[in-house]
Amino acid sequence: MDKKKSEAELLKEKLTLKRKHAGLIMSDKDIAKCDKYCKRYMDFLSVSKIEREAVFNTVKEAETKGFVPFDRKAKYKAGDKVYYVNRGKAVIFAVIGKKKVAEGINIMAAHIDSPRLDLKQNPLYENEEHAYFKTHYYGGIKKYQWGTIPLALHGAIVKADGTVINVNIGEDENDPVFCVTDLLPHLAQEQMKRTPAELLKGEELNVLIGSRPFKDDDVSEKVKLAILSILNDKYGITEADFVSAELDAVPAGKARDVGLDRSMIGAYGHDDKVCSYTAFSALIDMKGIPERTALVILTDKEETGSDGNTGLKSAYLRYFISDLAEMFGEKGRHVLSKSRCLSADVNAGFDPGFPDVLEKRNAAIMSHGVCVTKFTGARGKSGTSDASAEFVAEVRRLLDDNDVIWQTGELGRVDLGGGGTVAAYIANLDVDTIDVGVPVLCMHAPFELVSKFDVYQTYKAFEAFCKS
Ligand code: MN
Ligand code: MN
Repeated sequence: MDKKKSEAELLKEKLTLKRKHAGLIMSDKDIAKCDKYCKRYMDFLSVSKIEREAVFNTVKEAETKGFVPFDRKAKYKAGDKVYYVNRGKAVIFAVIGKKKVAEGINIMAAHIDSPRLDLKQNPLYENEEHAYFKTHYYGGIKKYQWGTIPLALHGAIVKADGTVINVNIGEDENDPVFCVTDLLPHLAQEQMKRTPAELLKGEELNVLIGSRPFKDDDVSEKVKLAILSILNDKYGITEADFVSAELDAVPAGKARDVGLDRSMIGAYGHDDKVCSYTAFSALIDMKGIPERTALVILTDKEETGSDGNTGLKSAYLRYFISDLAEMFGEKGRHVLSKSRCLSADVNAGFDPGFPDVLEKRNAAIMSHGVCVTKFTGARGKSGTSDASAEFVAEVRRLLDDNDVIWQTGELGRVDLGGGGTVAAYIANLDVDTIDVGVPVLCMHAPFELVSKFDVYQTYKAFEAFCKS
C-alpha cells in the first residue's frame, strides 16, 4: 500500500530535478526496439572503422532508401533525397523539406574518423630479421593501450597512375592480424620507471608484420623482401607506393555485447560512429516529408583538429548549403543564419572507478539517456560555442515532447581537462548549435563502451529533430 506522501515529499517531487536510469523509464517494448536497433548499429560499426569505410557504407545504405548524388544544377522538390561525398572521406546527406530553405534547415553533424595508428609514408623496415611498419599515431591516445592487441590494417593505396587499391586485412577470421610488441614484466624494470605517457613511446609504436626471410643468400633484408613480395603478389604494389597511401592500423575484431545483461556495446570507434550512425539512420528512416530540410554531415579529421579539406573547418558544408540555397533563389548565409544544428559527439561517461575527474551533478551518467552539452571548452570555457539558453530551451522542449530520455553533462571537472567538438565551427557559420551525444567509457581506447539505452535515446533524439 502506498503511504500517503507528506507535503515536503510532494513539494520535492514538484520542484527538484530528478535523474533516473533509462531502464526504469523505458517500457519492455521500447527496450526490445532498442536492442534491435543496437544490433543494426553494431553491424555498421564492425565494418566502418575508418572514415572511407563509413562513407562507403552509409552511401550504400542511403542509396537503398532512394538517395541520389547531389547535382547543384538540378531542381529539387520537397521529399527529394540527396548525398554529396567529399573526397571519399566525408559525406553530406539531405532530405528536402516542405518549408523554404530560407526559413532554415536542421543540421546534424558528427565525425567518422577515430584515433588510431597511421602508417608513415615510408613505413616498411626490417630490424634483426623482423619486419615492421612505422606509424605516427592519429588523434589523442594513451599509447601504452595500443601494444599487445590484435591490429587490422585498413585504408587505401593510390598508385602513381591513380588506381585506388582498398586495403582491409585482419577482420576476416582467416586473415592474419598485426601487433605492436611490449616488454615482458620480467625485463621491464627500466621501462616501468618511464612516465605512463612514455611507457610505449611514439617511435616504439611499430607494427610487427612478418618474420620469414625470402629464400636467397645474396640479398640483405630478406624478411622485408619477403613482405614486399607478398604485397606485390596481392596488390601489385612496390615500396614506392606507400608514399601515396593512407593505411591505418586499428584494433581488429567486431563490436561485442558487454555484460551478462548485454546492456553495453564494446567496440573500437564509438567516438564518433555512435553519433554518426544514429544521426544518419534517423535521417534515412524518416517517414514522409519533413517540415524543414534535414541534413546530416559526417565529417573527417575531428580527432586532429578539424583542419584540412575534409574537416569541418573547411568550407565544404558552407559551399553545399550555398548551392542548395541558390537552387531555390536564396543566399547561403540567409539559410545558415536561420538554421539549427545538433552537433553530435560522444561525451565522457561517469566512471565509478575514477569518480574524481567529473563533477557528478554535471556529468553524463551511462544509461541516463542522450547527453545535451550546453558548452564544451577548457579553462574558462575557452574554445566553446556555448549554446544560447533560448536554443537549449528549444531542444529541451523538443526532447520532452518526443519522450526522449536525456540528461545534461559537461566534459570533466573545471580546470581538469576539457575538450572541444565540431560545434564551434558550425556555430561560427551563424547557426544555433548545441552538442548532444552518447556518454562513453574508455573513450579513445582500443575498446570503448557505451550503453545500448543511450545509443537508442540518441537515435530517438535525431528522429525527433529530423521531423521538427
Ligand atoms: Mn568525438
Ligand atoms: Mn574523440
